Amino acid sequence: MIHTLEQTETTVFSAPAYDNHENVVFCRDEETGLKAIIGVHSTVLGPALGGLRIWNYATEAEALNDVLRLSRGMTFKNSISGLDLGGGKAVIIGDARTVKTEKLLKRFGEYVNRLNGSYITAEDVGATTRDIEIISRQTKHVAGLPESMGGGGDPSPFTAYGVLLGMKAAAKRAFGTDELRGKTIAVQGCGNVGRHLIELLAKEGAKLYISDWAEEKAYEAAAAHKAIVVGLDDIYDVDADIYAPCALGATLNDRTIPRLKCAVVAGSANNQLADEQIHGEMLRERGIIYAPDFLINAGGVINVYQETQGYNREASFARIEKIYSTTAALLELSYKEDITPQEAALRMARKRIADKKAGL
Ligand code: NAD
Repeated sequence: MIHTLEQTETTVFSAPAYDNHENVVFCRDEETGLKAIIGVHSTVLGPALGGLRIWNYATEAEALNDVLRLSRGMTFKNSISGLDLGGGKAVIIGDARTVKTEKLLKRFGEYVNRLNGSYITAEDVGATTRDIEIISRQTKHVAGLPESMGGGGDPSPFTAYGVLLGMKAAAKRAFGTDELRGKTIAVQGCGNVGRHLIELLAKEGAKLYISDWAEEKAYEAAAAHKAIVVGLDDIYDVDADIYAPCALGATLNDRTIPRLKCAVVAGSANNQLADEQIHGEMLRERGIIYAPDFLINAGGVINVYQETQGYNREASFARIEKIYSTTAALLELSYKEDITPQEAALRMARKRIADKKAGL
């Protein structure tokens, strides 16, 4: 059964991350052990699309906070990307290595189905394409299916391409040219997105410094693209023109920003600013141009969106191309209005939602 907000203890409305979410659904199934929360932040622009995260949260409050925060983030990401999608997210509480059974995933699919398409689920941390395939047996409201099932497959190359375009638009603003040949770029993280980005940047002729917690990934990428591997903490001290965080969130913080020598920050990691206001401002004061993460890392979700329209790879790439002009426009807005790029991006995202609400 679905426990809606009204039927549970209403700690939700006063949760710090609650931001007028339209619907928060708590899903429990004793037989399979399923404990999940689906957050639908907004459906103003269309069905709320956002991935399923399977994570061993220490507390339920932590899981709730995550789903509220992430679903809100999806509203802005989908809006600024021009997609006819609202923002949503789901979390399953538990260790992805042990909690995931076919039965549990199917039961989760039933809950998604009961929302009648107001929430569309997809992959996120802890969930694989195979899991989405299983969920899709219970509901058609899924995206991120493998290519063999008419889906767009691995989103990472699309995300990396979008990051490249956002980086180029920011470079144009900082250096007067979007030519990356000869530019020194520090890429943190050589995972799914990082390694594709490193390949694209090597083709552009950039000089690359890279790091990864899993050293073998860094050395593999270095050998393939003549990059230089640096230590995990040394990446912030590289005398780089551009820093591309493609590993963890919150790497732009009090400790790291004073060390950065770059003129541009542009990467794929989610929630790069430890504190949106404080660290967005700190970058601005230091004259560093920040390309907002939720705009330039949207290539993956744009590709997933195409699935809801009948998948077409070329159409995906064409839409991702717009990341360049949107980044350029918001950097101009940030300059004119004397606000941080993050704030400018949020304004643009909110405006599209407000216009739709007003019937414009
Ligand atoms: P991934 O797990 O494949 O890669 C992350 C890499 O970072 C791993 O290789 C890991 O070893 C490394 N890493 C971890 N801690 C590190 C540290 N301290 N220093 C250097 N490297 C470290 O993940 P991914 O799919 O490549 O995603 C990277 C980032 O981009 C994440 O923040 C993710 O949320 C975000 N993102 C990814 C996509 C996508 O399409 N995959 C889309 C949007 C946003």
